[in-house]
Amino acid sequence: MTLFVEVALPVPLRQNFSYSVPTTIAITPVIGARVKVPFGRVQLIGLITAVMDQCSLPPAKIKPILEILDQQAILPESLFKLTLWAARYYFCSQGQMLTQALPVALRKGADTNSKDKSCWVLSQTGKEAALEQFKKAPAQRKIIQYLQQQSLESADINLLELSRAGLKALHDKGFIKQIDVKHEVDLSWRHKPVLDEQPHKLNPEQAIAVAAINQLTGYATCLIEGITGSGKTEVYLAALERIINEGKQALILVPEIGLTPQTINRFKRRFNVTVAVLHSGLTDNQRLHAWRQASAGEAAIIIGTRSALFTPMAYPGIIILDEEHDASFKQQEGIGYHARDLAVMRGNLEKIPVLLGSATPSLESLQNALSGRYRHLLLNQRAGNAEKVKQGIIDIRNQPLNTGLSTALINEMRLHLDAGNQVLLFLNRRGFAPALICHECGYLHECDRCDAFFTVHQALGEICCHHCGNQYAIPRQCHQCGSTMLMGQGVGTEQLEQVLTQLFPDHPVVRIDRDTTRLKGSLEQHLNAIHKGEYKILLGTQMLAKGHHFPDVTLVGLLDVDGALFSADFRAPERFGQLYTQVAGRAGRANKPGTVLLQTHQSDNPILRDILHRGYGEFARSQLQERNQAQLPPAWHMLLIRAESHDAQDADNLLNAICNLCQLDDDFEVIGPIPAPLDKKAGKYRRQLMLQAKTRARLQLEFEQILPQIDQLPEAKRCRWSLDRDPQDLL
Ligand code: ADP
Ligand code: ZN
Ligand code: ZN
Repeated sequence: MTLFVEVALPVPLRQNFSYSVPTTIAITPVIGARVKVPFGRVQLIGLITAVMDQCSLPPAKIKPILEILDQQAILPESLFKLTLWAARYYFCSQGQMLTQALPVALRKGADTNSKDKSCWVLSQTGKEAALEQFKKAPAQRKIIQYLQQQSLESADINLLELSRAGLKALHDKGFIKQIDVKHEVDLSWRHKPVLDEQPHKLNPEQAIAVAAINQLTGYATCLIEGITGSGKTEVYLAALERIINEGKQALILVPEIGLTPQTINRFKRRFNVTVAVLHSGLTDNQRLHAWRQASAGEAAIIIGTRSALFTPMAYPGIIILDEEHDASFKQQEGIGYHARDLAVMRGNLEKIPVLLGSATPSLESLQNALSGRYRHLLLNQRAGNAEKVKQGIIDIRNQPLNTGLSTALINEMRLHLDAGNQVLLFLNRRGFAPALICHECGYLHECDRCDAFFTVHQALGEICCHHCGNQYAIPRQCHQCGSTMLMGQGVGTEQLEQVLTQLFPDHPVVRIDRDTTRLKGSLEQHLNAIHKGEYKILLGTQMLAKGHHFPDVTLVGLLDVDGALFSADFRAPERFGQLYTQVAGRAGRANKPGTVLLQTHQSDNPILRDILHRGYGEFARSQLQERNQAQLPPAWHMLLIRAESHDAQDADNLLNAICNLCQLDDDFEVIGPIPAPLDKKAGKYRRQLMLQAKTRARLQLEFEQILPQIDQLPEAKRCRWSLDRDPQDLL
């Protein structure tokens, strides 16, 4: 009897595909195994989603699969179900969701299990040979020297820069031989004590939180709302101790810029177990290796950024999302999934607890905690000896500014620096100046492909568009009037660094932004130097704002935050509250009291006042009420449809046509089409349409009906369009 399979393929069509299984294939097809299939003119690797003994397609239309790659499903059932659920929720195909979930190497057909390794070792002759013998053949000598210390994995030959010709020569002469080393899955950690370092004695709040977490059995989501420096990580570590001692694994997700060696080392130091690390900087092979360690159960701790969410665990124990409010958990390109929401779903499917931790929880999580859907744990005390910080506003209206710095701030900096402490300045604009202006005619140089100004990068001698990457040499003459009197408008981190070096010649300055950390490992180097006290003034963008623990920083200054207060995005106040609180939280984290000063032209701004006076917690709760009244998320649910085209009319036409497909009433609304806040990017006009529904279910139902009709619209062929469910950024 012929079998048929349904296959999820990594193509943007929202469906699975049917194939027959030729009897010549000896492996029995099972759900979740990979298969290679013909697709148009190419061959693709996909996952079997169903096995059937008949198929409704006419026989002539059914093609046979080429190969079955796995005897068993490569993902646990829970993750298979998760991708299925996510595909439906984010309105994409399961094949597309699986593409997000699987490491590249597996998508290309690599083995799911660690293979036996083939290694080079010295033969008896080789062991007896003296290094002298290879004096004239340095490449061979290097190999012999290496093999005298350890065996050589074939996979490492290139990495170690050893010569293949040298290996061959040595092999031909009988000095070395190749052996196979069997890979044994090492699960010994599951049966032995794993604590490697004496934990801190928990303070009462921490102890209560850990006790509450230890009581969780099966699925439960828990929001840990703990002010910065309250010792949340310490709580995670204590919770992990029990999980790991029970022989279960933990998956820890952190924001992109939070995954520093310092973070990883905290977990490595505490436990004597394998920690698998997954982030975007890995090669395909490194990623595969980490995936295998997690999937086989060898790694007790898996720590990674957004996409690590999909890493299988043989013995699932707990999922922890640190800094759960961080925007990097939402994927912005392609399928816009949210790792936090999927983590909660995964916990549900695997029947394990999920911890969400933050000093500044997202309103989504806060709402769930306040309504009782999530448990809610509060940490209001700073851990150890750290005290609460002092905060102040510097009203800079009519004040003279030196490159953005007020005299009051400069004086305060001096006090802290003279006392031997570190000062952190936050300025969220990299580059020298955020715009290039003509001193004669006032013309501001604008990107020719975007609705945005060029940023001046003086060190590079370039003007760059931060939206599309467009760059030119700094022009000598104004594009409008030809004048040579061009100057930077506003202050970026590059310029501020120069000025600080002049103002404080005795206090070394370090700048941390995307430009100074481009090289691999450079962020770590800077952070280490800061910890060693080599720098006294720390200047940076968002990258410096989050997660880091700088015990010697006693003063934090925020410059030019007014822009962040005025944004079209309804999340702007929430984001500002988070940013301010996180940046402020870098001050006074150890024994020294901290001060935070904020420069603004908007000292009366109610949002600003609210955050400073009442703190993020209360501010967020009142924001939540406002969102409820305004029928905005998390009260209502959103789906953003984006369309972009070279001719704005094409995008508008499509969105209007979609709008016409919607059956509107009190519980389901459509806003738009309207231009996106950045309405031209990389030469294309961008329009958006917002669908809003009172319940998730309603949004799901409505759009599932509309979606197939959109695919049929003639307008849909004239522009690119994409969907963003629960959009985090309206840009
Ligand atoms: P958070 O993650 O909430 O910002 P951390 O867990 O990083 O806080 O803790 C901040 C600092 O306080 C760290 O240096 C940590 O080692 C220390 N710490 C945490 N808990 C305790 C405790 N119970 N006793 C002493 N020090 C602690
Ligand atoms: Zn541009
Ligand atoms: Zn000009």
